[in-house]
Formats: sequence, structure tokens, C-alpha cells
Amino acid sequence: MTEDKFKKVIAHAKEYGFVFQSSEIYDGLSAVYDYGQNGSELKENIKRYWKDSMVKLHENIVAVDSAIFMHPEVWKASGHVGAFNDPLIDNKDSKKRYRADVLIEEHVAKIEAKINKDIEKAKKRFGDAFDEKQFRETNSRIIERQKKINTILDRFKKATETGNLAEIKQIIIDEGITCPVSGSKNWTDVRQFNLMFDTKLGSVSENADKIYLRPETAQGIFVNYLNVQKTGRMKLPFGIAQIGKAFRNEIVARQFIFRMREFEQMEMQFFIRPGEEDKWFEYWKNTRIKWHKALNLGNENYRFHDHENLAHYAKAATDIEFKFPFGFKELEGIHSRTDFDLTRHQEFSGKKLQYFDPETNKSYVPYVIETSIGVDRMFLAILSNAYDEETIKKENGKTETRTVLRIPPALAPVKVAILPLVKKDGLPEKAREILNMLKYDFNCQYEEKDSIGKRYRRQDATGTPFCITVDHQTLKDNTVTIRYRDTMEQKRIKTENILETVDNEVNIKNLLKKLG
Ligand code: ATP
Repeated sequence: MTEDKFKKVIAHAKEYGFVFQSSEIYDGLSAVYDYGQNGSELKENIKRYWKDSMVKLHENIVAVDSAIFMHPEVWKASGHVGAFNDPLIDNKDSKKRYRADVLIEEHVAKIEAKINKDIEKAKKRFGDAFDEKQFRETNSRIIERQKKINTILDRFKKATETGNLAEIKQIIIDEGITCPVSGSKNWTDVRQFNLMFDTKLGSVSENADKIYLRPETAQGIFVNYLNVQKTGRMKLPFGIAQIGKAFRNEIVARQFIFRMREFEQMEMQFFIRPGEEDKWFEYWKNTRIKWHKALNLGNENYRFHDHENLAHYAKAATDIEFKFPFGFKELEGIHSRTDFDLTRHQEFSGKKLQYFDPETNKSYVPYVIETSIGVDRMFLAILSNAYDEETIKKENGKTETRTVLRIPPALAPVKVAILPLVKKDGLPEKAREILNMLKYDFNCQYEEKDSIGKRYRRQDATGTPFCITVDHQTLKDNTVTIRYRDTMEQKRIKTENILETVDNEVNIKNLLKKLG
């Protein structure tokens, strides 16, 4: 999908009530978004699918709902006060702020693009005989460019590891990186910027303590580890899941709902015996990719990206990347975190956070495997994948374009639209009767305005998997037309069979059964 199509997805999301810019009538608030009537339903369904797959399918996983505000010591223990930083740099002419690491990454990407262009050209010239590996190894221009990339990345890695901000700036200067807005190289020094939002607790702000809006939901799980373990009589291995808002003061927020300042996470911490981390890391990698693939968004759109630069506490980490319209990017993280978090909370709180293992008669701090996914990124993955402009041939030989959202039926905001063919002859009454029969099971929509064709198109555009049309024949024999969103196929079925037919396709239960 091209950037151009991505723009269409964003416009479509607004036009059909999925995503609005926050405070739009005041010209919006950057990187903050609201979910509209259809978006909030889709989001709710994503969360339901995730939570059920965790809690219903695993007898040893429970969910909690912890507060956004936490004791300020939590964020010292977790390392967020000291190290949750991005390096930022300002351009003095445009007054625009950038992430220094992103400027360097984008510069490298440009060099890579040049290499790829040369390869594409050569491919065309040599046809079938073309050997890319050999070309990369022998073409002097490519060798030189690749060397340059390696040098930049090496320097950058060293500078990051040693916290050498002056060196990061020097790379930007040496590479002649310019501001995309002003075109100038008039840069400030690089500074560290903490991503946490802070506020004051208490009514008299001068005397009040500084507290933070949580930048992740995970810490709410760690601090409740013992509460849940004791009150739930949980035995290792067991997991605690949580869905909730997180806040990060992202320096450069771009790409619509991919990087937001207020977003929602679905995180699960799985507590295990030390020594079993490799087994459980593999288990959760497999379990999570299965969860994604069950949605049928195309297996080729996923890949794992193993981290080479691990955080000091991590034993292993991988991202599940999804092919967004702007390329493969992180959708979910799976991390083997050792006993880092619980041990740090033990130290900072002075409270023991150990597990007594009845099998070994020993007490120890459990290890943790974490799975962490952003609801909004998942939403974007689904929406951008679902958007399709289909050319269809009409009976008169002409063609027209149909915009359809092929959202997985179980996640679609509205499951069934009930449409009386005309607004008279008792058809609306009959249609409402059917609506009343279905509304306890599905989110339904009743529509009687405009031609039936227009109504079908509107439902296609919001991803409704089924339309039920009530016509004059319905009054005679109690049958209706059911129309399938993806194929536009229409069938006549008995009214009493609607519920089962729809349910088979849209019930989250059937999706969960695929995960078995
Ligand atoms: P990135 O490298 O993209 O900034 P991250 O590695 O900082 O992400 P984590 O801290 O691992 O992300 O957070 C876990 C998940 O939360 C991510 O995989 C992503 O889905 C989601 N997430 C993180 N930051 C944001 C954000 N600013 N907006 C929306 N979702 C986010």
C-alpha cells in the first residue's frame, strides 16, 4: 500500500466515524485522537478478543485494572525516571523539534533507498541472469554506500551506549543532515528528553508531590503481583493481564494513531520459575503470533524482529512487526525480563516480593515473560489492511469502484444492518421485528433512508459483514435476503435462520476456538 492510500485510510476513518482528531473544533491536539461511533466498537472488540484469549483460554491467567496514577517511587524503581529518554534536537531556523536518533535513521534509510534503486535498475538490465548478492559485493558504488551506512550506525551505537550526546550531534553535522522544514543545518545541542508526563497530586500544587501519568501499564501489574498471587491462591506459572491507558510525551508524533501521546496498551506479565524462561519465551512467541494470524490479515504481513541491543535487564526480546502502509513496524513486543522488575520493587519498597514454591520448598523472586501490544496500533493494522477499493463490473458493462472495509467479521463494529426495501407497506414494521429479535446478540443497525444500493455501499464502507433486506416477499413467506459484504453474494433465507447464519461468522467464540 502506498502513502497515498494511507491518506485515504485516514480520511475514511474520519468520514465514517472511526477516528477523529482530539478537540478538532479547536484545531486539534497533536498526536491525540478520539474514537467515534464505529471506532469505539472496533476498539472494544479488539480488546475483548485479546482479553478472552488471555483469561478464558488460560486457567492460570487473571486480569486486573490498576490506577493510572502510582506512587512516584514506582517509576524510580522501574528505571523510567532515570532512563526513559529520547535524544532530541531543535532546528534553530524552523524551531522544529526532532528525535536525533530518528534523523539519523532516516538519513541511513535514504542511503539504503539509493542502493535499492541501483539494484532495481541492474535487475531490469540483466534480467534473469541477475545475481543480487554478487552485485552487492562487487559494485563499487554500492560497496561505498554500504560502508558509509555501517560507519554511521557504528558511531551511533557507541554514542548511544555511552550516552555521548555531543557525538550524536556530531554525526548529524558530519553527515550534513538538514531540517526537512527549513533546509538548514543550524542545530541546537542534543538533549535528553524524558517521555513521562508529570503532574501534581493534591489541591495545593506548590506543596504537592510530583507524580506521573503511567507510560506503561506493566508496573501496575508488578506492584500487585503479591496481592493477586495471595488472594487468588495462584501457583507458578501464572499470568496477570491488564488493558489500560498509557501516556508518553513522544517528541515527534506522526503516522496517525501509530504513535500517540495518549494510547492504550494490552499487557500480560507471565510469572515463572527461574530457569524456565527460554521455554516460556518460545511459548508466548508462538501463542501471540497465532492470535494475530487467526484474524486472516495475511500471514505475509507479519514477521519477528529479534532485538540485538537488549536492555540491561532483558534476556531476550522480539517484536512482532506488521506491514503497515508505511512499512514493517513494531506492533507488539515480547520480552524475557528476568526478575528485574520484582527485585527492583523489592529494593525500593522494602517489601518482600517472593514466591514460596511448595514443590521445592524454596522462596524466590519469579522470572517474567511479558507480552505488550498497543490497542491503537492493532486498530491501525486492522483498518489499513481492511481498506479496499474494488472495481466492479455493472450489468450495463460499465465499471464502478466500491470502497469496502474487510474487517474480520468478529471485530466489525456493526454485525448486521436491517434494511426494509421501501419505507411503506408494512416493511419497516417487519424489519423492526427482526431487529428486535437480533439486537440481544449483535450490534445491529436499522436503515431505511436512500436506495438499497446506496445503503449497501454505506454498510460496506463501515465493514458491516451482513445486510438483511426485508421486502414484500418477506411478508408472505417470512424469508429475507442476506447479503455478504466481501462477495456481495445474496441469498434468500428463512427469518428464523438469520441468527445462526450471522452468529457463525461474527462470534468471537469461533475466533477463539481457532486458538484452541
Ligand atoms: P516504539 O519503538 O515504536 O516507540 P516501544 O518499543 O517504545 O515502541 P513498548 O514500550 O515496547 O514500545 O510498548 C509496547 C507496545 O505499546 C508497542 O508495541 C506499541 O504497540 C504500543 N505503543 C508504544 N508506544 C506507543 C505510542 N506512542 N502510541 C501508540 N502505541 C504505542
